[in-house]
Amino acid sequence: MFGWFRKKRKIEEVDTTKETKSETKKETSKSHTKTTLCPYCGNDFKRVVKAKSKCKACGKTVYKRTSISGESIVVTEEEKEKIDKEYEVRRVISCDIETLNSNYAAHRGYALAAIRKELKERFGKEPLASDIAWYILNQESVRTLSDTYNIGSYQNVRLDMARVSYERGNYATALRLLFEVIYLDHCNMYKVVMLMHDPTLASVMPYTKGSVPPALVEMAYVLIDLSGTDEGEAEALYVEANRSLYAAYSPEISPKESFGELKQILYKEKTK
Ligand SMILES: [Zn+2]
Repeated sequence: MFGWFRKKRKIEEVDTTKETKSETKKETSKSHTKTTLCPYCGNDFKRVVKAKSKCKACGKTVYKRTSISGESIVVTEEEKEKIDKEYEVRRVISCDIETLNSNYAAHRGYALAAIRKELKERFGKEPLASDIAWYILNQESVRTLSDTYNIGSYQNVRLDMARVSYERGNYATALRLLFEVIYLDHCNMYKVVMLMHDPTLASVMPYTKGSVPPALVEMAYVLIDLSGTDEGEAEALYVEANRSLYAAYSPEISPKESFGELKQILYKEKTK
């Protein structure tokens, strides 16, 4: 089940002191910022190109897009696909960190002002909203994991951490966290935990492997791209990220087996 994934956070009005908007914004493409130049041959179109145009000089098709950082850019076919994919994933993975902090403050009782003060003392400067989020989510990871019944909440927290890492531009960290989220679904950890607490349930609800929601696979695609993680590295990361979960709950599928199935999707279709 992945109802946790559809869960939409309630946006509540919480009075928080505004942070400086200094979060690092990611650049999708550093080149071709001039909207009139062909990204293939440098030919000057001398006009703002349309959504899709053919370059008269080299014959290649170029595309106009808006980069993640908000600039109008002219890109190659390959770059266009990357940007489109990134937008697609942003719809699922991106988060508003201030809202996330406010939600944890409202629902879990975190005192944002006190956390900000503590971090400011520790860092010697004003913390970013994402520093506060990271602090909260680390505490929430420990809290939810210490209660084995709470594996779904733990999964939500790890997904939030993946989102925050993504927003900070830490794609490898985001991928590692996402791999935990994926493994928890794939081995149907919710059920593993349930059967662990009441083995008699096995006769009525035998263990079955879970499935990975397509949205998570999409996220993994993009994070693999952004972090430049090859198949071997991804496998090592997947196994490492899930080692302690596997040791703690012994689900039937090991992280290595889980990745073995997943890589069919992640690395086969990637070459398309
Ligand atoms: Zn050209």
